[in-house]
Amino acid sequence: MTTTQPAAPASAARGRRLTKVYGEGDVRVVALDGVDVDFPEHRFTAIMGPSGSGKSTLMHCMAGLDALSDGQAWIGDTELTTLDDKRLTALRRDLVGFIFQAYNLLPTMTALENITLPLDIAGRKPDQAWLDTIVDTVGLRARLDHRPAQLSGGQQQRVACARALVTRPAIVFADEPTGNLDSKSGADVLALLRRSVDELGQTVVMVTHDASAAAYADRVLFLADGHIVQEMSEPTAARVLERMKAFDESLDTTGSAV
Ligand code: ADP
Repeated sequence: MTTTQPAAPASAARGRRLTKVYGEGDVRVVALDGVDVDFPEHRFTAIMGPSGSGKSTLMHCMAGLDALSDGQAWIGDTELTTLDDKRLTALRRDLVGFIFQAYNLLPTMTALENITLPLDIAGRKPDQAWLDTIVDTVGLRARLDHRPAQLSGGQQQRVACARALVTRPAIVFADEPTGNLDSKSGADVLALLRRSVDELGQTVVMVTHDASAAAYADRVLFLADGHIVQEMSEPTAARVLERMKAFDESLDTTGSAV
């Protein structure tokens, strides 16, 4: 009788030898230096590291928003580097959700119109049951007719989360989604991202500077100088803070800028 190994969790996205170089000669910067990374399905991953360590570059390259200098990136089974611009745009639209620090909502549209915008662009009709689930998950049913200016920062970011989830993307990337929010609104948005993983089966990758925000994730990847230097499972704010302090101290002794 053969024994079967438990299957490794499938990856919503993965990268191999991810390399990104900006500029040439004196201004040459290696922002990603051969990074291997996996983002398993239905998991919440936080990315942390000093300013300039390559967090945004990693996220943008994995989301197909920026081209790699070398290496390969996949969303599901599709390798991004093999796609022409048209296919890459379609893949981003259909399989990737993105949440920005600055919300990036359209001011003339209502909350509901902002949420369904990615479907309108794709010429798809909303799945009403899914839309209802998302609207209830983000807790904005009573605000759907409001325009962004009539909503608080936290409510606007929850609209942006709903917009990122409405297409049921393979993966949601969030670039410091709580950076502009007070701590209560930030906690609401983080709880929402957590619920999108636990209850809706979403996969989330979030860049953050905030140890308490990282503690909502299932694991934290720490970047330094374009490398993943550590991975932490089941993070707590205290353990993340301790790790960040160790980073600062090692940077102080080498004299590098943080
Ligand atoms: P982080 O998000 O961790 O702050 P980034 O990914 O933004 O780091 O940047 C990594 C490195 O790449 C930094 O040294 C940064 O100055 C450099 N970099 C980022 N974007 C560009 C760009 N468009 N042109 C030149 N250098 C860049």
